[in-house]
Amino acid sequence: MATERTLSIIKPDATKRNLTGKINAKFEDAGLRIVAQKRIQLTPAQAGQFYAVHKERPFYGELCEFMASAPVVVQVLEGEGAIAKNREVMGATNPADAAPGTIRAEFAESVGENSVHGSDAPETAKEEIAFFFSGLELVG
Ligand code: UDP
Ligand code: MG
Repeated sequence: MATERTLSIIKPDATKRNLTGKINAKFEDAGLRIVAQKRIQLTPAQAGQFYAVHKERPFYGELCEFMASAPVVVQVLEGEGAIAKNREVMGATNPADAAPGTIRAEFAESVGENSVHGSDAPETAKEEIAFFFSGLELVG
């Protein structure tokens, strides 16, 4: 499998509870390398633009408010099959369904406040990385 990059976000519920280091340890233990990372505060409009694919869903407004409610840590993870590997490390969207040992099983508070975002495919990974990072910020 090829080396890939994927976009990860440590969400407000996790940054507020000081879990950035514990979550990063899960990525690194799984062989994912954090090749770019920054802590930022999104506006609701920026969160809405990032999650535009969900704009018809009933939870969209709440999701945008939540993502702008406290700082997030946006990061690029690199590794063999990084997109699928990160989804494995994250666990299912709803923490009630997340496998033991995954980030969402251990840390998520609810289906909405579920601690992490991860890209779901090569095309979305590319778009989502470009949404937050310039080429100069990706140092490998
Ligand atoms: N979400 C929610 N309610 C739902 C489904 C999703 O609040 O019923 C939120 C949740 O924060 C989730 C995000 O919307 O992580 C994006 O949903 P998606 O289905 O893409 O899940 P993910 O890819 O994050 O597992
Ligand atoms: Mg998704």
